[in-house]
Amino acid sequence: MPMWNPWHGCHKISAGCKHCYVYREDAAFGSALPSDEVRKTASFKLPMKRDRYKNFKYPPGTEFALCFTSDFLIEEADEWRDEIWEIIKLRSDCKFFFFTKRIERLLECLPSDWGNGYENVGIGCTVENQDRADKRLPVFLSVPCVHRMIIVAPMLEKINLIKYLDRDLIQEVSVGGESGRYARPLDFDWVTDIHRQCIDKKIPFCFHQTGSYLVKNGRQYYIPREHQHSQAKKAGLNTLTHQIIGK
Ligand code: SF4
Repeated sequence: MPMWNPWHGCHKISAGCKHCYVYREDAAFGSALPSDEVRKTASFKLPMKRDRYKNFKYPPGTEFALCFTSDFLIEEADEWRDEIWEIIKLRSDCKFFFFTKRIERLLECLPSDWGNGYENVGIGCTVENQDRADKRLPVFLSVPCVHRMIIVAPMLEKINLIKYLDRDLIQEVSVGGESGRYARPLDFDWVTDIHRQCIDKKIPFCFHQTGSYLVKNGRQYYIPREHQHSQAKKAGLNTLTHQIIGK
């Protein structure tokens, strides 16, 4: 699945941002620019790229993970976003999804012809604790959107989502832990608890990654980065046929 990052850089806005991987990756690669400086990238028009035969480089049916090194709804990108919506319309043969911690900005960032939502766009509202779930999810459920996902990542505590799990509105819930050296641990009981909530409400569930530290039966395990997705899958909780990417 190609990543389409038309801009890069972000500001930390809530507890889940503490060890943001954008900052970690920038530091690891020795980026010359600060991670909180939002700038356009060379991939700004990625889905429009053509090969030497003038065909689109990315064929019909491609699913783009949009804006994974920033937040699609960040303020600095307001003047650039209309162009992105145009590309999304031009490539109506492809799918696009983005995750955001700024769902309260969605309405003001939508194109004028959004209506009930574009069929080829999925939006994931990210929540990391009960407080953010209770702030962001009522807004998320109230905005027009065809494909809604709740992304619980990095999960920092037990969260009750029951009142937000409306089958007509939410297509899936995806849970993940935090990665990196200073990651906060994920308790497997929290994951199975949300899994139970989704089963009760008949909503597809995905445990997409364990994070670096997984607590199970009171014991903490270190999971190397390369095994975090496969270990989560092995838990056997997933009722989705595909995995989405955690943020
Ligand atoms: S919103 Fe996402 S990309 Fe931005 S700082 Fe927080 S975790 Fe990082």
